[in-house]
Amino acid sequence: MLDLAIIGGGPAGLTAGLYATRGGLKDVTMFEKGFPGGQITQSSEIENYPGQSEVVTGMDLMMNWPEQCQRFGLKHEMTEVTNISKNNNIFNLTFIDGSIQQAKSVLIATGSVPKKAGVKGEDKYFGKGVSTCATCDGFFYKDKEVVVLGGGDAAIEEAVYLAKICSKVYVVHRRDTFRAAPNTIEHMEKCDNIELVLDSTVQEIIGDDSGVTGIIVENKNTKETRQIDVPGVFVFVGRDVLNETLKQEDGSFLCDMNDWGEVIVDLSMRTSVPGLFAAGDIRIEAPKQVVCAAGDGATAALQAISYVDSLA
Ligand code: FAD
Ligand code: NAP
Repeated sequence: MLDLAIIGGGPAGLTAGLYATRGGLKDVTMFEKGFPGGQITQSSEIENYPGQSEVVTGMDLMMNWPEQCQRFGLKHEMTEVTNISKNNNIFNLTFIDGSIQQAKSVLIATGSVPKKAGVKGEDKYFGKGVSTCATCDGFFYKDKEVVVLGGGDAAIEEAVYLAKICSKVYVVHRRDTFRAAPNTIEHMEKCDNIELVLDSTVQEIIGDDSGVTGIIVENKNTKETRQIDVPGVFVFVGRDVLNETLKQEDGSFLCDMNDWGEVIVDLSMRTSVPGLFAAGDIRIEAPKQVVCAAGDGATAALQAISYVDSLA
């Protein structure tokens, strides 16, 4: 019986592992289906992690985190958790091989992943001008022109954010109406450096050895094509929240979720189920930053310690 089972070994899961073991929980295991570090290990540049004054790769940033946790007793198993359920105050974790582990408390920190637009050049130039994170990469395009692809809340909010940093933002959207909330659209309309390219689909993201140089869009009504020369393309076409493990046999979720599949937590990262905590990108209103995920993990671990103590 584990004191705490941590699902996911990104910044949230690893920080929770550090705080839980250092804070005195005896049996803490982190279950991570890949290598620990999380999605930031895909990033070639991170320059907004406090105290890390030099720009480093995500891999470099995360390199020492697992070793630091293991020093305090965190165990790591490389496996995929497929289901979490709770019976008689005990959590049951099912793994991809069918085996089961019991735990007194659980932290889910499986994150979320941006969807791809499926456009030619998107994969080739990912990290070389194609980005899915304005907070992370917007600064690299200070006083330059960029494209934002999408018409939902994320695209429009991030276009407004980028408009404060970049000289011009082209919002390319496949329809002439937006999915984003009316007040978000109002904010966008007040930005005089945002140009709307509507009813248009991206045919290709083009570039050279230095990275993205532009996009080719086609107006779906006139069939006219246009080349927009930009060094940066931000793709916001939705996210997949990795919440499958919380799905129960009857199709419901183990804990309360919002309409977008994110786990509802309070400021202590407690979910609606006692003993179940959520941290990082999977939770509601996550800023989707490494420093925030790490902070969530620490908060959740401190709460898990109190919870496990209260069972004794
Ligand atoms: P994640 O990092 O997503 O970690 C979740 C982990 O859970 C993953 O390792 C995954 O393998 C594992 N997992 C998922 N499901 C299961 C399962 N069922 N069983 C076992 N394991 C599972 N943030 C910044 O602050 N600055 C930046 O500059 C920045 N740049 C970024 C660049 C890129 C390309 C990307 C993709 C993200 C960037 N981010 C940046 C965002 C940052 O990476 C995330 O906000 C952060 O990693 C979220 O941490 P997390 O621990 O919640 O989740
Ligand atoms: P979303 O609402 O699903 O919007 C995705 C957008 O991308 C849509 O405009 C869609 O076009 C477009 N799109 C999808 N696939 C595409 C493709 N292959 N090529 C080109 N365009 C494509 O996703 P989101 O903006 O990430 O938001 C996800 C959820 O979180 C939403 O429910 C949103 O309301 C919520 N959210 C809320 C807030 C907030 O409340 N502040 C902030 C961010 C997100 P169509 O419109 O034509 O389908």
